[in-house]
Amino acid sequence: LIDEEGKSKVVHRNLILDISFLPVEPPQDDKDKQSNDDNMESESCVSELSGSLEDGSSDDRTRAWVLEGQEQIEDIPEWDFSQQGTSAEMLLAPVCMFRDPFLLDPNKLILCEVLKQTQEPADLNHRNSCNKVMEKVKDLHPWFGMEQEYTLLGVDGHPYGWPRLGYPKPQGLYHNSVGADRAFGRDIVQSHYKACLYAGIKIGGTNAEAMPSQWEFQVGPCEGIETGDHLWMARFLLHRVCEDFGVVATLDPKPMTGDWNGAGCHINVSTLQMREEGGIEHIEKAIEKLSKRHVEHIRVYDPHGGEDNKRRLTGFRVFSSITDFSAGVANRGASVRIPLHVAQKKCGYFEDRRPAANCDPYAVTCAMACTCMLEEEE
Ligand code: ADP
Ligand code: MN
Ligand code: MN
Ligand code: MN
Ligand code: MN
Repeated sequence: LIDEEGKSKVVHRNLILDISFLPVEPPQDDKDKQSNDDNMESESCVSELSGSLEDGSSDDRTRAWVLEGQEQIEDIPEWDFSQQGTSAEMLLAPVCMFRDPFLLDPNKLILCEVLKQTQEPADLNHRNSCNKVMEKVKDLHPWFGMEQEYTLLGVDGHPYGWPRLGYPKPQGLYHNSVGADRAFGRDIVQSHYKACLYAGIKIGGTNAEAMPSQWEFQVGPCEGIETGDHLWMARFLLHRVCEDFGVVATLDPKPMTGDWNGAGCHINVSTLQMREEGGIEHIEKAIEKLSKRHVEHIRVYDPHGGEDNKRRLTGFRVFSSITDFSAGVANRGASVRIPLHVAQKKCGYFEDRRPAANCDPYAVTCAMACTCMLEEEE
């Protein structure tokens, strides 16, 4: 902006809004699959949730917008945009606001839902239905913590820091590691961590993962719909930070074939009852309900109805089987794990280890609430 003397300056009254959109349309073959699924079974609301992003690549879209004086989410007007390759305009409905860690205060990042012209949610907008379910279960005070694993790649698609020819040393020395020969990209990871903290995202921590250049951050505990919102914005910031470093973060659940770990997005779950004394009883009930809906949940735990997780959930080491449900105390090879400290204290939370790194967090938290928290219809 230009001031009266002709010098450029930043006018702090203005907000530059980076608008982050939820994805819009599933690819055509996914749409077909979805309608087939609808015919097959529609026992619970879980089965309606599959179908989402392409593989592990980011499909977040963003653009900047200058407004004057709008500082509350309610003040931000709806906006429209048209998707590349289509002429139909879609609506962007602002849903939450974070501080912008790139342009700094008073600039904001706005997460938007995408709606059709009819005001119905876009096909891939799972936030809308998730929000309705979270409203229904809000008296249970559902908390979720999600552990987002990802892999850093060069723009050429080669894992970041891996030798040009051949492979790094086998897995074993990388998990939680320190050192230039084993922890690849910590400056990127810490920039993302700081960006999340500045933005106001409930990020809980980060760690280096089992495969070199694979990392994790945790978001939570968050209550209800906030989980998807915070994880979505944290993913956006990850892609955005990586852009500045000239690298790419992939959420592909199995970026390297062979004896290299895949990437997941474990979800930790509790209700108020589970957190209170003797809550283990409620944890066990929830796990019992999950055991009866394994197939439906696998279908929701990646954006391709379970196809992505087939590559990851091999039944070896810390990966449970895609076909069989299992649960256990302190067992990281099970579908669902009760952490040791939870079993000892007899209250707390449980962990579902099945969601893939590229899962839609709205679809996953919604499925969890449907199965474990909604009163079963008699
Ligand atoms: P892991 O040992 O599986 O690697 P992490 O420390 O990476 O565990 O992640 C644990 C997650 O559990 C965090 O995201 C944290 O927010 C979440 N969490 C902790 N307590 C609760 C709770 N009561 N309900 C739901 N999630 C919780
Ligand atoms: Mn234009
Ligand atoms: Mn973890
Ligand atoms: Mn992990
Ligand atoms: Mn975990």
